[in-house]
Amino acid sequence: MSRIVYVNGDWLPEAEAKVSVFDRGFLMADGVYEVTSVLGGRLMDYDGHYARLVRSLKELDMDCPLGRDDLLAIHREIVAKNGIDEGMVYLQVTRGNPGDRDFVFPDPAATPPTVVLFTQSKPGLAESPAAKTGIRVISIPDIRWGRRDIKTVQLLYPSMGKMLAKKAGCDDAWMIEDGLVTEGTSNNAYIVTGGRIVTRDLSSDILHGITRAAVLRFAREAQMEVEERPFTLAEAQAADEAFITSASTFVMPVVEIDGQAVGAGTPGPVATRLREIYIEESRRAAI
Ligand code: PMP
Repeated sequence: MSRIVYVNGDWLPEAEAKVSVFDRGFLMADGVYEVTSVLGGRLMDYDGHYARLVRSLKELDMDCPLGRDDLLAIHREIVAKNGIDEGMVYLQVTRGNPGDRDFVFPDPAATPPTVVLFTQSKPGLAESPAAKTGIRVISIPDIRWGRRDIKTVQLLYPSMGKMLAKKAGCDDAWMIEDGLVTEGTSNNAYIVTGGRIVTRDLSSDILHGITRAAVLRFAREAQMEVEERPFTLAEAQAADEAFITSASTFVMPVVEIDGQAVGAGTPGPVATRLREIYIEESRRAAI
């Protein structure tokens, strides 16, 4: 079924949804994005995603072209138009089409941003079989730019990382910088060691995951101990458990790192419980 896509105020069949070859998103990766999951036809963590969108744009000297309520209405309309029960809404805002290629930012008064939204239907998202078996990751050097806290569309290296993992017969890659794990290619990374959940502290070294914030809140509410600090690959391999979080995978156990089993080599109790809590609570709070 052809999707209905939102492009700058228009609702179009996907084959007719187009942006200019001069769009700075296309020429310079000059844009940011958000992915909001949908469960039961409702949006999970919408306000967190909206707040991060505004922040990412601000860091790139752009104003958010839509207010919280207007963008929410567009999200709800695209979910309804495409009959999404479980899946995702992808949103991208770029610095627009100045009509030519130039490194200098165009005057925003003359060049409005490009706003695109589309949906991805993922029936069974909450019942992912991978959550029962866990995933296997490899490590790769983190050679991304230094502003990973801005959710830009520069996803070539994460994409290459996933390909390296795939070639190695694994599911994903954790990135390493100065001997420490930064994050997964499209997710935040965690271990469970000494009875504590350990995940890297927030800085420009990692994306400030919306799922991360929710999961850490739920963990603390459930009296689990949380430590926000960097950890090494060796510490992760020797940990009792490992897992990742993201809007599209929720909480996903990691059972192997660079060929080494983590804990028993099966999804651990902390990751399993956090996945249940996250899905239950976020589904309840979805709007
Ligand atoms: N880190 C990176 C590099 C990511 O790309 C993502 C997902 N886009 C995340 C972490 C997780 O963020 P969120 O929980 O907001 O999806």
